[in-house]
Amino acid sequence: MADEQDEIFEKSQRFKDLGLRGSVVKGTEQAGYEHPTDIQAKLIPRMLTGKDILGQAKTGTGKTAAFGLPLLHMAEKDQPLQALILTPTRELAAQVASEIDEVGAATPIRTVNIIGGESMRQQSNAIKKGAHLIVGTPGRIMDLYGRGQLPFDHIRYVVLDEVDRMLDIGFREDIRKILKAVGKDRQTVFVSATINEDIEKLARRFMREDGEKIESESGALTVSQVEQHYIPVPNWAKRRLLEHLLDREKPESTLVFCRTKATVHRLAEHLRKKGHACREIHGDMRQEKRKQVMSSMRGGEVDLLIASDLAARGLDIAHITDVINYDLPDDPEVYVHRIGRTARAGRHGRAWSFVTPDQGQLLTEIEKLTGVLIERRSFDDFDLGEAPPGEEPASAEPRKEPDPQKALAERAAPAVDPESVDEEKRREMFPNGVVPKSAPRRTLGSKFKRRGR
Ligand code: AMP
Repeated sequence: MADEQDEIFEKSQRFKDLGLRGSVVKGTEQAGYEHPTDIQAKLIPRMLTGKDILGQAKTGTGKTAAFGLPLLHMAEKDQPLQALILTPTRELAAQVASEIDEVGAATPIRTVNIIGGESMRQQSNAIKKGAHLIVGTPGRIMDLYGRGQLPFDHIRYVVLDEVDRMLDIGFREDIRKILKAVGKDRQTVFVSATINEDIEKLARRFMREDGEKIESESGALTVSQVEQHYIPVPNWAKRRLLEHLLDREKPESTLVFCRTKATVHRLAEHLRKKGHACREIHGDMRQEKRKQVMSSMRGGEVDLLIASDLAARGLDIAHITDVINYDLPDDPEVYVHRIGRTARAGRHGRAWSFVTPDQGQLLTEIEKLTGVLIERRSFDDFDLGEAPPGEEPASAEPRKEPDPQKALAERAAPAVDPESVDEEKRREMFPNGVVPKSAPRRTLGSKFKRRGR
């Protein structure tokens, strides 16, 4: 455990060493934070210098406070609407606002949550009451701005949380408009657990030239407290495998990810019929319902939630013990975000991925990106039975690369220190733009020189 905690926390430092004002430090104490996490120790002092930042930190390692605390420090109490924090989902916006409110409780700085699906009038009234920091989703923020109810005149700070998703094609236009409306006289901070080369290029277009990139210490994108497994299974046996896993492993609090909203709904119905108490969450549900589901999960009344990728990013539910990828995501980066819902703030967690015979390559891609060799698991007492007519045979295994260990080692853990080779060479070695700074423990760990702390 000490090792795991060391990986996340910067134990040689305290919040008062980071240049934050007394009331902000007091908030961290009240929230029970003893030491800053690695990303907090790096990002907070840089942000206080006023520089633009592109920050990458493993999910669940305190990203919100890393940008929230400097904002609480820098915001002036007599100036309304100074900062804009944008997130891809309403759930994440609500959570970010509530965490900033918690750590900012000893300061006079207040947040307002501007998200779709809730009363515009109430939000407009809350703005009039004089909030300092706006936390919301781009659509509703643009809406209120367009109606003249959310002036950007005093905005000096813009934070994009989960920037890779925010600069996706679906959000990009809104983000461009928002940043244009805010004007150039601003500090821009982008953060995410995953930032590939394309996203960095895009993000840099919105940053000043001297903007800095900050990466968390360890190159592996997933925290080592998540035990990762995959289970080979043909598509037609997934439901039974899931039931078997739930019965056999008895996970305490579980998030099951499916690819489509329809699968989420059908799977939840099926499990309920089979006697598993579960809830579902996806983007077709009304906001009120989504909120209800999230609060029952947070409150511990629900311990099995079937979800679309709406729940993949940023959500911080402290006690999630297991994440199950019922459908593997097409994009390896989404895997990183999904399994980041467990093992939050130094806790332990398990991730299970159901991998069909045609997904071997995708699994290898995920291993390359995360820098972790995912362990194969099977249940001796699980009987696949006969394949239905026309379906793949029960014995089919995912067709992985012939030697995944070698493939992973070549890509993720070079025998040379990446710091010692020039930039161009590094880019060649890591086309995904993620340059590992440590080797996966079970592969080339011993060959690798760790940078001192
Ligand atoms: P985040 O990555 O921002 O979603 O944060 C993950 C969890 O870690 C949240 O529950 C935070 O309240 C908690 N947290 C953030 N910073 C610290 C810290 N320095 N010490 C202890 N817990 C923290």
